[in-house]
Amino acid sequence: MAKRKILVSECLYGGRAVRYDGRDASLSDPRFLRWKEEGRLIPVCPEVSGGLPVPRPAAQRAGERVLTCAGKDVTKEYTAGAQAALRLAKEHDVVFAVMKQDSPSCGSKFIYDGTFTGTKTPGQGMAAAYLRDAGFTVFGEEDLDEAEALLARL
Ligand code: SF4
Repeated sequence: MAKRKILVSECLYGGRAVRYDGRDASLSDPRFLRWKEEGRLIPVCPEVSGGLPVPRPAAQRAGERVLTCAGKDVTKEYTAGAQAALRLAKEHDVVFAVMKQDSPSCGSKFIYDGTFTGTKTPGQGMAAAYLRDAGFTVFGEEDLDEAEALLARL
């Protein structure tokens, strides 16, 4: 039987520079690497999928909008990226997603509060919100115990 797929933030997956600052954030947890080896992981960077370049200005959610540190409204690009991530999740019928914490797209528990002062607040990024609204479970990279347990039950 084909192995069920898992949607993951592309910066955790590694191999292509996608982060706003171009830096690496690839995950080396053995479980994550095993899932990668098994071909389960479907990487997506919602911000790049939404048409944003690498590097790009830092951006944070401000209510329903997303603004860069210079005040430019990039809600359209973030929305397009969230829609692309959801499309991919549906296409591959993923069992859940593992997304990078704190990101205005991928954060699943905390995000920066929109003040660009390094302050986090409970909340979720736009892609995480789209996935959850469609019924997908979204874990952060620190939740692999729970993710592994869920996968074992399937
Ligand atoms: S949008 Fe998500 S996948 Fe892309 S760099 Fe940010 S946290 Fe990583």
